[in-house]
Amino acid sequence: MKNLNIRKIILSKQVRRADFLRFMPEGQKGELLKQASYLRGKRVVHINAVADGGGVAEILASLVLYFRSLGVESDWYFINPDVSKKFFEVTNKIHNALQGAPVKISGREWTEYERLSGRIAAELDKIDCDVLAVNDPQLLLAGHLARLHKHKIYFSHIDTSSVFRQVWKKLLPAVASYHRIVFSNRNFVSGSLPGRKIKVFTPAIDPLAPKQKIVSQKVARLYLKKHGGIPASCPLVAQVSRFDVWKNPMGVIQAFRIVQNTYPGAQLALVGFNTAKDNPAAMVVYKDIAAIAGKSRDIYLFFDPKGKDVLEFTVMAQNAADVIVQNSVKEGFGLVVTEAMWKRQAIIGSPASGIRKQIQNGENGFIVKSPEEMAQKIIFLLSHPSKKRIMGKTARKTVLENFLFPRLVLDHLKLYRSCLK
Ligand code: UDP
Repeated sequence: MKNLNIRKIILSKQVRRADFLRFMPEGQKGELLKQASYLRGKRVVHINAVADGGGVAEILASLVLYFRSLGVESDWYFINPDVSKKFFEVTNKIHNALQGAPVKISGREWTEYERLSGRIAAELDKIDCDVLAVNDPQLLLAGHLARLHKHKIYFSHIDTSSVFRQVWKKLLPAVASYHRIVFSNRNFVSGSLPGRKIKVFTPAIDPLAPKQKIVSQKVARLYLKKHGGIPASCPLVAQVSRFDVWKNPMGVIQAFRIVQNTYPGAQLALVGFNTAKDNPAAMVVYKDIAAIAGKSRDIYLFFDPKGKDVLEFTVMAQNAADVIVQNSVKEGFGLVVTEAMWKRQAIIGSPASGIRKQIQNGENGFIVKSPEEMAQKIIFLLSHPSKKRIMGKTARKTVLENFLFPRLVLDHLKLYRSCLK
């Protein structure tokens, strides 16, 4: 029977082991292959909310290919985007509550979440696998309700350091029912969860993915001129992030206005193509930002993906910007930071946990606490190109040593093995 609420993604691409093993320290390669050999013939299935848009989809698109290349069978499912608008509205509220927002979720909304989760659970139960890995709160309850899987893992990718208690209390039994619960930061772990089930490791980027392409700034600027209308010669500041209150684009505009007192010709690009289907609030945030940016010819907003090659445009923006900022209020990790650091960008970021995990203030980027401070650091980087270059090189080294895919794959394999043992 055709699955109505979840869909499998057909990934026809392949990666070759030799291509990614070279990004691993000698000593770890054997460990990776050993862990993979324990899982050969086993099947790991991941499910998340969307096929495209946002960091989790980005990770899963590569993870499955890496597993397959190591002899571990793997598939990736996502929620049919047409299931129910109301479901995504309530899961968006749950997401916000878990990041600390005091949201109100009505009885009717909980019922909708439970109704669809039950239907998804029934479809999950039909999937043949040894490990079922469930990503993020959209699927938290469905994974909990799926009864026929012995080994279930819940991946929480968001900042749950100060959850809104009312909502958390309702979800806690579901979270605690998983065999393993994975967070990207020790600070995100709630004391009310059983410690023996908890694992903590950070996400990473796939150095083989097209997103990680490095091109010269000149080429990237010409691309943005042609496809985004941004003049190629003025100082360019950019934030690449979905239009979402947690990403705080408003604060970036405030900082940018201060920068313009020193660099009147500067331009700002906010690149947040609306490809994820689970974020109904994005349009509202975009409209608010558009109203503030107004008709000013120095702020460029990229929201509608129609007619754009989103991947190429994003890559080019990350290569083209003179300064990249990431102003998130909360950030589970922030792959955009990693991606830009890999491209030798010295990022100016907020003190959100995921960003602090990656940026060592003054070494490979800056951590700033206000629009004024952000503006000051943007001006510093624009006026000290050789310092910016050195910090950018350090940023790439940080990613090479800590946040590349082979390490993440190893963490996953160890986790599955610990589950199956
Ligand atoms: N992204 C993109 N184009 C955009 C905005 C975001 O390709 O216009 C990608 C970005 O490159 C990154 C992911 O979406 O791979 C965002 O992941 P992150 O962990 O930074 O944040 P999330 O959106 O998951 O909160």
